Amino acid sequence: MQETEREELGMMLASLRRHLERRERAGIRFLPVERLENKGAEGETQPSLMGRFEGALFSDYAQAHKAKTLEELRAAIGDCRRCKLWSGRTHLVFGVGNPKAEVMFVGEGPGRDEDLQGEPFVGRAGQLLTDIITRGMGFKREDVYIANVIKCRPPENRNPEPDEIESCEPFLIKQIEVIRPRVIVALGKFAVQTLLQSKVPITRLRGTWHDYHGIKLMPTLHPAYLLRNPGDKKLVWEDIKKVLQELRAPSA
Ligand code: URA
Repeated sequence: MQETEREELGMMLASLRRHLERRERAGIRFLPVERLENKGAEGETQPSLMGRFEGALFSDYAQAHKAKTLEELRAAIGDCRRCKLWSGRTHLVFGVGNPKAEVMFVGEGPGRDEDLQGEPFVGRAGQLLTDIITRGMGFKREDVYIANVIKCRPPENRNPEPDEIESCEPFLIKQIEVIRPRVIVALGKFAVQTLLQSKVPITRLRGTWHDYHGIKLMPTLHPAYLLRNPGDKKLVWEDIKKVLQELRAPSA
């Protein structure tokens, strides 16, 4: 490279840096970039689900954005400190199950047991979810995929805060993009409202099909809610029967 080219490159880089710093000061975290394509495991091209996070290509989400497998995604998340929950966690609870699952369950976030064991839904609510999967649906836990909106336990199991959801959501979206399940079962208010980008109460959304970027999404009540309100288990069973019906139908 010639001296003049090097100088020119240096000036361009300095200008780009100033531009990015100005955007950062203005609170703009993402850059508009061309739509990414996502190459599936067999090399086929699939549309990216990352939508509003695509500008993350230039942020500390860049590696996660490029991940083609769950292992690559987990590696890209690393020893995450992107939100304040990192300091209180024992384990980051990434997700568990079949990377080619037809059905994916999405919960809110790890509780105490999940934080200690590093696996989603292993406490009392988890036992109920496992019963729904195994006794209700006739699957093994390993047949499905289970993940949460946020990957680290909030202190005292408080609700996730908006900045925590915003920091973690790209990872959930990428998990869905990699797995491409036929059906997502969204468990409880936070999973439903985050995935559907909606403020409509879960009681109005549950039990009917919704579209998540071409994937069928069934909102239902959270197992922890069912532990407190066992009378509502029949509502969840109605929703799960619709999921089973959909899974039995030939895939498109
Ligand atoms: N509740 C959730 O939403 N997720 C878990 O992993 C455990 C309890």
